Amino acid sequence: MELPVVLMPGPMNAAVAAGLDGHCELIRLWEEPDPDGVLARRRDEIVAIAAGGTVIDGAYLDRLPAVRLIASFGVGYDRIDAAAAAERGVVVTNTPGVLDDEVADTAMGLLLMTVRELSRAERYLRDGKWADGTPYPLTPATLHGRRMGILGLGRIGQAIADRVKPFGVSVAYHNRSQKDVEYEYYPSLLELAADVDILMIVIPGGDSTRHLVNAEVLKALGPDGIVINVARGTVIDEQALVDALRTNTILSAGLDVFEHEPKVHPDLLTLPNAVLLPHVGSATQPTRTAMANLVADNLRHYLTKGTPLTPVPESSPLLA
Ligand code: NDP
Repeated sequence: MELPVVLMPGPMNAAVAAGLDGHCELIRLWEEPDPDGVLARRRDEIVAIAAGGTVIDGAYLDRLPAVRLIASFGVGYDRIDAAAAAERGVVVTNTPGVLDDEVADTAMGLLLMTVRELSRAERYLRDGKWADGTPYPLTPATLHGRRMGILGLGRIGQAIADRVKPFGVSVAYHNRSQKDVEYEYYPSLLELAADVDILMIVIPGGDSTRHLVNAEVLKALGPDGIVINVARGTVIDEQALVDALRTNTILSAGLDVFEHEPKVHPDLLTLPNAVLLPHVGSATQPTRTAMANLVADNLRHYLTKGTPLTPVPESSPLLA
């Protein structure tokens, strides 16, 4: 029996290919000497795509008219034009749920590093300054008594809220719609920013959330304000953030994601009140394996039963 053909445009966690072994013919496109030739020759055979970091838009899909499923690695799928896929009858899946705790842990670590200047303090020790007899200066900020505004109280946002509660930090949130939760809802992001002193960003990226956190929002957050971004770099106007950090319009920022990553705004690299991580929110071996397994599960379920496990909302009209 001929196996269905699945395209993997770029390298992915090895558990994806392992989970598909025996269930399909997998084209590892980046290993092909003539990738365009392969796409042209196999255009009517490739029925699904296992997508890692590749940008997939309508033009990409037009080259592959037999594709019916894109199984994307990660919960954020802003590299994939899910609306263009739906227009072409292509379902998109992501990997929700299996990374919530990991990303929430990273967000907490980043928050503590930022408010207590922990990475600066460690550099101080490594530079021998503590051994020279001078203690690290007291940090102007503490976590205690703070109020956190969560921009995007979804799966990960809720896991972060669960974690900050025992720290005595109160929580409010802004989504497009109110949820049935114990936390105060703000229909306006600007009003939320004005009422909190930590802004925790956990919304999806993409055009609809681009630069939602702008100069006005940062000004409303105020001089004690801390911005933590574990969502997507595009959600913040990065130049406005740099200006706010430089002029002490806000106190500090902890960032796991950047507008043009892996390039980081050069000023962020020199600003002492920014803590910077290289997009490691979900980056542990167990969690990345769980995400890879869910990609393979989605593909296998689709190939054998015709339905995916975790479609994104844009795909729901196709599955009704
Ligand atoms: P969810 O879909 O569960 O939650 C997203 C929340 O954002 C929802 O509550 C939604 O509420 C809200 N939201 C969406 N759009 C807007 C908007 N325009 N304005 C205000 N609120 C909005 O997603 P997850 O919690 O699973 O993941 C969130 C994001 O975190 C991902 O999309 C991804 O980009 C990022 N992420 C980053 C990682 C990292 O490594 N740093 C790892 C994993 C995820 P409503 O619909 O009511 O607006």
